[in-house]
Amino acid sequence: MSGKQLEKTYEPKQVEDRWYRVWVEKGYFHAPLTHPGEPYTIVIPPPNVTGSLHIGHALNNTIQDILIRWRRMQGRNALWVPGMDHAGIATQNVVEKQLLAEGASRETLGREKFIERVWAWKGQSGGTIIQQLKRLGASCDWSRERFTMDEGLSKAVREVFVRLYEDGLIYRGERLINWCPRCLTALSDIEVEHEDTKGKLYHIRYPLADDPNTALIVATTRPETMLGDTAVAVHPEDPRYRHLIGKKVRLPLTSREIPIVGDSILVDLEFGTGAVKITPAHDFNDFDAAERHKLPRLAILNHVAQLDPKSLKAAAVEEAFANEIQNLPVGKARSKVEQTLKARDLLVKTEDHKMALGKCYRCKTVVEPYLSPQWFVKIKPLAEPAIKAVEDGRIRIVPASWTNNYLGWMRDIKDWCISRQIWWGHRIPAWYCTTCNRTAMAETATSTPSQRAYTFLATAKPLVGRTAPVQCPTCKQKEFIQESDVLDTWFSSALWPFSTLGWPEQTPDLKKFYPTSTLVTGLDILFFWVARMIMMGLKFMGDVPFRDVYIHALVRDAEGQKMSKSKGNVVDPLHVMGQYGTDALRFTLASMASPGRDIKLAEERIEGYRNFANKIWNAARFILMNLDGPRETVQPKDRPFADRWILSRLNKTIRDVNVALDQYRFDQASRHLYQFIWHEYCDWYLEMIKPALQNKDSAEAKLIRQTLVETFETLQRLLHPFMPFISEEIWQTLPHQGESVTMQPYPQPVSQWDEKEAEAAFSILQRFVTLARTGRNVLNYPPGQKLTLYAATYDQDEFSKLVALKGFAEHMARGSVELTFKEKFLANPLPSGALKLPDGSLTVGVKVEGQVDLSKAISRVEKQIAGLEDEGKRISARLGNQEFKDKAPSEVIKEQEERGRALGSEAATLIDARRQLEQIASQNPNLQ
Ligand SMILES: [Zn+2]
Ligand SMILES: [Zn+2]
Repeated sequence: MSGKQLEKTYEPKQVEDRWYRVWVEKGYFHAPLTHPGEPYTIVIPPPNVTGSLHIGHALNNTIQDILIRWRRMQGRNALWVPGMDHAGIATQNVVEKQLLAEGASRETLGREKFIERVWAWKGQSGGTIIQQLKRLGASCDWSRERFTMDEGLSKAVREVFVRLYEDGLIYRGERLINWCPRCLTALSDIEVEHEDTKGKLYHIRYPLADDPNTALIVATTRPETMLGDTAVAVHPEDPRYRHLIGKKVRLPLTSREIPIVGDSILVDLEFGTGAVKITPAHDFNDFDAAERHKLPRLAILNHVAQLDPKSLKAAAVEEAFANEIQNLPVGKARSKVEQTLKARDLLVKTEDHKMALGKCYRCKTVVEPYLSPQWFVKIKPLAEPAIKAVEDGRIRIVPASWTNNYLGWMRDIKDWCISRQIWWGHRIPAWYCTTCNRTAMAETATSTPSQRAYTFLATAKPLVGRTAPVQCPTCKQKEFIQESDVLDTWFSSALWPFSTLGWPEQTPDLKKFYPTSTLVTGLDILFFWVARMIMMGLKFMGDVPFRDVYIHALVRDAEGQKMSKSKGNVVDPLHVMGQYGTDALRFTLASMASPGRDIKLAEERIEGYRNFANKIWNAARFILMNLDGPRETVQPKDRPFADRWILSRLNKTIRDVNVALDQYRFDQASRHLYQFIWHEYCDWYLEMIKPALQNKDSAEAKLIRQTLVETFETLQRLLHPFMPFISEEIWQTLPHQGESVTMQPYPQPVSQWDEKEAEAAFSILQRFVTLARTGRNVLNYPPGQKLTLYAATYDQDEFSKLVALKGFAEHMARGSVELTFKEKFLANPLPSGALKLPDGSLTVGVKVEGQVDLSKAISRVEKQIAGLEDEGKRISARLGNQEFKDKAPSEVIKEQEERGRALGSEAATLIDARRQLEQIASQNPNLQ
């Protein structure tokens, strides 16, 4: 007897805090290099330092923790590497908002001071998500926590950048970015707010070069940028124009001739005139089209969105007209172009047109696509080995159905633009000699006299190195300006599996734990992150970064809608952990994590699993109350029937849970646990042993107590990865060896526990009790009322088993049982006044007696039949729906078909019961 007791009700909060502290203090989550077990490693998808735990994190980290705890208990050297991402733009925005509130800005502060300020912010309020992960029970090795901007990881970033550059895999080129001409800064996509505005669609005549009397009519919302056109596009299947593809048009207001190209991506047959201009330097879609057709880019606007004189000249704009419009802002230039086209009879018409205009989130100025020099990774040479690694199975994607998405995307991959025009991040380790690059230097208008800033055109020659250069190798001058751009946040997270383990140093950690075992991630970052980790791992470690990639679903609301603050349908994990307990949330998420299906999460589900936790708690209390007395161990085969049966069922559950976890079927694993604990262990086993435990000193009670300890202690270990807190609290009160369930071996099947015979006998008992309960329900006998039961079977084996289990049958069905063996073809010998319920060879009779209201019973049965029929109709409608059959996973279809069959046989039983009740009623008018 352990002497420990459990509180009357389970109070998750105090249990969770207490145990988490102990686990960390004892160092259970630390993976020592000296551990003899085979390593099992997971690197966490680093949450943003600005982040707060949302339900997607909760799912992602619950799954990782289940895997890590399971492997740790299996004796593997389990390492879960935690850490955070510096989240360039998101973090910069947080700090900029603070500055704005103080009436300052990052420009007034200057780069260095601003970065200091961000670090200060990180120290004070960054990383709350780490505390929240701890609340979730995450068993990360906190001694190995990393941050993408810490010293070691920054070193890894520089090293990778330099080596890629030296290998010719990093280059500078031009690219369109979002630019605010008032704030004079680049904006990320999320910083551009789109607003519906009334604009105009201008229909402009572009005469054919070889036949000026014929013209293509081009529809555009931005006539002023036509000066930068480098082609006109039509749809290649448009019968009106397709014969013109390859010919040229004379671009109005200029002396240039530009080609007509066919492009089915850019041109929408239904829109405008079916012909559109291509202005690569001033439109994102046009930029891509220009890439496809290898067209030049001509920028005509400068950084303050005015028409630039030099550029107008380069674009061969008619000199007189150029003089008229140079240095005009966009809006004025547009009217000038419109007037001039009209005067020359080149404007066919204008019409009103609604469009979404991008505006700066800070100042609401219209954002311009702006051509600027950027850094790129040449990706094809890196992608090829990454494709191969998945094709040949060195990396396995689970569920496998996502493999083709990965391969398709990788085969079509575009060069990766890695530079960002922000300050918070890894500054690109490139420097420009101010002497050699004088002609490629453009002073940016941000520069106040005190802060001179430059951008370097794509033609500038950078010096790339691990440290700043001392002397220019070309001109021997010593004045340099560092590249002002920082790297895309995904650049550093692409190195995460090896940078966190110490690379570029050849550390013992790196040797032991790389390649990692499993990566757990959502589909949304398969390309942003997973693909890039694979490319970088293969390039710099010569091996894959992980063996398995497990992709989990998205969590949506109960109706399947995306959760969002504005819709008010967000399930906050912190709130539900507080309300229902962390284990309930974890178990809910695990039980819903079926492959490839979005999770529709209703709070009631979590409440349901809170009840499951309470069920376990109550079982523990019952067991503890009955452990008082000696225990005796004998071979499983020599134990009482119920014990043999439950050991066998527990064994099957152990097998099923391990197999399910091996296959990343967290849904199945948790279903096996739930079914076993609730419907077998609590509903049957604990009930069946109650009578025997009454006599504490009996030999049977001694054996049962031993089985209770063995099975329930095993169950806590089996449950631990899913519900770490309650399992630890209960395990500690049971007789046990060792300090914590966290470090105990995970249950493995024990062959001596298998008892086919006991399972077969139990299923007969269960059939009997189920029929008796149906009878009790049909006749509306209260649960406490003793029944008079009869059973007849023509199966000899069944009969002898029932005879042996008569005591259990009477206890579980609550009644007296009279058993009869009958020959198969003889009439049923059960008394005529009983309601007879058949199930194959077995028929159970429930005597109709006492205060039974037959007419009430009949109408209740009718209602139940109608209910079953309704459900049956809904299922057949669903199964008859082709769309459902095409879309639903085969498991769901199977489940529905099975439910349909079960409904049919339930209804048949009730229909027959109704017939019998009517008959009994007519024969016994006194019972109505
Ligand atoms: Zn702005
Ligand atoms: Zn130089």
